[in-house]
Amino acid sequence: MTLSRQYVPAIGKSVKMRLFSDYTERNINVWAWLRVHSLNSDGAVVQVLNGSEPTGEVLTIPLNTIDPPIGWKSQYDIYCEPAKVETVLGWFARGIVVRQSHDMSGSMPTAFQPMDNSEQPHWQFCEVTDAVPAADCAKVFRVVKIEIEDIYDMYLVPDKDCGYCHGTGRRTLKELANIRHESVSELKRKMAIPFERYQTNEHLHLDGYSEETETFECHCIRGGFHTLGRSKRAKLIKEWASLGWDTHYVNLGEHSYWERTRETVVKDWEV
Ligand SMILES: [Zn+2]
Repeated sequence: MTLSRQYVPAIGKSVKMRLFSDYTERNINVWAWLRVHSLNSDGAVVQVLNGSEPTGEVLTIPLNTIDPPIGWKSQYDIYCEPAKVETVLGWFARGIVVRQSHDMSGSMPTAFQPMDNSEQPHWQFCEVTDAVPAADCAKVFRVVKIEIEDIYDMYLVPDKDCGYCHGTGRRTLKELANIRHESVSELKRKMAIPFERYQTNEHLHLDGYSEETETFECHCIRGGFHTLGRSKRAKLIKEWASLGWDTHYVNLGEHSYWERTRETVVKDWEV
């Protein structure tokens, strides 16, 4: 069941009517803008404009004759990354403002903001196209969590010909210490420096380090997807698909990569 919500223009806004006949039936110039003066039970009281000047003509038109602005919808999807889901759900109790980007080349033509925090929009999203009070948010907005993973970083098969781990996928601290002409305890000291605090060359980060075995992941098990055979790759893609992932190749020439995305409806429209 779809909800048909009526667009209600803000007072002072200039609007158009939807149909040619909406104008001709009322003997109004079809190019005229109408400025909303007030709202009543019959619809909107509008002033007919000539350019931006009122002509003096005032009439009442039903709300359903008014053409909603680009970007206005009776229901919306809000896409967000996993870390933002709770924040977005929190907006429902505050009311939500919808803004339309006028930069159509942008990848985010619509922006959502909590109503009590909507004073300072991003420059791209200057115009409010919709303002939904808290009481209506559950019917109007659906929240879709979108996960994006770069498959280059996924742990897959180690390279059996790898000269570092010899196909085991793991390397030892001892072997690394030998290569660097340092002691194991020296390496451990460098690993213990918090990266954010120092950002120095001294810091050593080893992926998937295990205290117990003093081993870490070899770089060769990353990026394995790229070198997998076609049928093995297809098998994995199918496996992931059963978990809701859509896997695709992003073709950017030499910077091409594989990624997988998954959309989960966190909160559906209430009926
Ligand atoms: Zn290796």
